[in-house]
Amino acid sequence: MRRLPVYILIDCSESMAGEPIEGVQKGLAAMLNTLRRDPHALETVWISVITFDANAKQVVPLTEVSDFNIPTLSIKPGTSLGAALQLLAIRIKKDVQRTTADTKGDYRPIVFLLTDGQPTDNWEDAAAALKTVKPKLANIYAIGCGRDVDFNVLSEITDIAYHMKEVSGEMIAKFFVWLSASVQSMSQGAESPISLEKSPFANSGGFDLIDPYNLPIRSDVPLQVFLHSRCMNTKQFYMMRYVFIDEHKVYLAKSAHKLPDDFFSEGGDVPPAISSDLLYGGVPCPFCGNAGWGQCGNCGQISCNPDPLPPQIQCPTCLAILRDGGSGTFDVTRSSG
Ligand SMILES: [Zn+2]
Ligand SMILES: [Zn+2]
Repeated sequence: MRRLPVYILIDCSESMAGEPIEGVQKGLAAMLNTLRRDPHALETVWISVITFDANAKQVVPLTEVSDFNIPTLSIKPGTSLGAALQLLAIRIKKDVQRTTADTKGDYRPIVFLLTDGQPTDNWEDAAAALKTVKPKLANIYAIGCGRDVDFNVLSEITDIAYHMKEVSGEMIAKFFVWLSASVQSMSQGAESPISLEKSPFANSGGFDLIDPYNLPIRSDVPLQVFLHSRCMNTKQFYMMRYVFIDEHKVYLAKSAHKLPDDFFSEGGDVPPAISSDLLYGGVPCPFCGNAGWGQCGNCGQISCNPDPLPPQIQCPTCLAILRDGGSGTFDVTRSSG
């Protein structure tokens, strides 16, 4: 039986925190439900999931639909797209049966790459290797999510890139409906490229096919800034997301997300610090509800602070006693996103 290998590459960097990653998690479950009810898909479709943050990992090996277990996705800093593409090429060469003189091998794999950031590693060589290898290893569909996507990067990987402009749980759910339908039609032997135009949400306005010769212009400033903070009461870590407000050229606090306890075990490259002048507003600590935050003058740790600030507080990391240092400008340590 010829198999249809499907590789799903998921960006698990900080920019996916919250609704996007929860949407992907639910979307995978919905997709599996659909495929398990389809006799063609049950017979031919094999799925693998590769996630990438500071590292790339094949979290689910190529598995048939009936045996597939949905992985639990979690957020880490970094967007190692290059490592993910390299891993993809290695896995395809190992996993997929090639057609020989006496046997018909598997169908050409389909790859869905879901990313919303800018890579933080060296991705160019891996992208070039994938795009130029003959015969083509896979049909790759890249889906750039949100405002921060660098389509120059995606167009180096594949000619078929889509833009999901607003990333909500609802849009991601629709994406997985389309993905399931596409995989279903390919499992019935349709070798033609997948067409978004036939998708149930083609005309919803939130999803565009990118013209590789007319790429959308990307801002030259990062559109989001991520700060790692620590709750001064529970000592747990969380991440604050600031988004760029074009009109005023500053970043406004948008959301806070709890981070897993092992979050700092694998770091990415750290971008330059950002001036506190550019950061406006705050979001409450997701652990204790403290409204403010501050940075320790001793070790640089950011932590939640009560508002108004008491005369002195203790840094949860280096345990230094900090007195209110006034409201001057200072450089804030960023995360790689
Ligand atoms: Zn707190
Ligand atoms: Zn400290």
